Amino acid sequence: MISFVGAGPGDVDLITIKGRQLLEKADMVIYAGSLVSKDHLKFCKDSCKIYNSASMTLEEIVDKMEKAVKEGLKVVRLHTGDPTIYGAIREQMDLLDEMGIEYEVIPGVSSFTAACSAIKKEFTLPNVAQTVILTRIEGRTPVPKEEDLELLAKHKASMALFLSVKDMDRVVKKLNKGYGREDVPVAVVYKATWDDEKIIMGTLKDIEEKVEQAGITKTAQILVGDFIKGEYERSKLYDPSFSHEYREASK
Ligand code: SAH
Repeated sequence: MISFVGAGPGDVDLITIKGRQLLEKADMVIYAGSLVSKDHLKFCKDSCKIYNSASMTLEEIVDKMEKAVKEGLKVVRLHTGDPTIYGAIREQMDLLDEMGIEYEVIPGVSSFTAACSAIKKEFTLPNVAQTVILTRIEGRTPVPKEEDLELLAKHKASMALFLSVKDMDRVVKKLNKGYGREDVPVAVVYKATWDDEKIIMGTLKDIEEKVEQAGITKTAQILVGDFIKGEYERSKLYDPSFSHEYREASK
């Protein structure tokens, strides 16, 4: 059996119980070494074979999995955060499908929610934003033109940008055009939940400079929107005059 497992954002205790148990039982682990904490590997058996996928191709990864499964080994493919977001798992799963090899996918805590927890905010506030956009700016990998950052920013939804902090200048330019104002709050969270986590708070006006001063060029979430700072209405869910399935309104 092959299990694609989300390792969570960094802190080893932010993997799911299911994910940890699979690691403990695994005969082979292929982990995404550039972002997954090596501390996860301490939970593996001594006999567990461990490979870092950072230096492997898709074919090499799938080949290792295929051979292991044929020997009846339990394989964990450990991905950072949640494997379904920028995880490049689809291409692995499609090759396994072609070979008739079964697998499962265990979700994880994505870095976008970990980053929002680090700044102690909520993406979805009444009257402010009820939508979260997860995206990235185009870099060496293109982004469909309908999803250009400037167009997405026009929605004024809460945003979490992956894989984009090295292009802060272009990010800020596009967000500025989309929002049409410079005072939009921005938080850059570097290595959320790791020991060397850093949080930089600012606005579209000053965030580029602050991030440059902090020397952050990778492994960061850029969170954007008025959910970070400003007014909001309290929720109906806990409003005394609002009844719902689980609670009668007080008179
Ligand atoms: N599947 C992962 C994302 C992989 S893409 C997830 O769900 O989080 C890699 C990008 O994720 C990085 O460029 C960075 O933008 C973001 N990222 C991953 N771990 C992070 C962390 N601990 N803190 C902040 N951003 C992180």
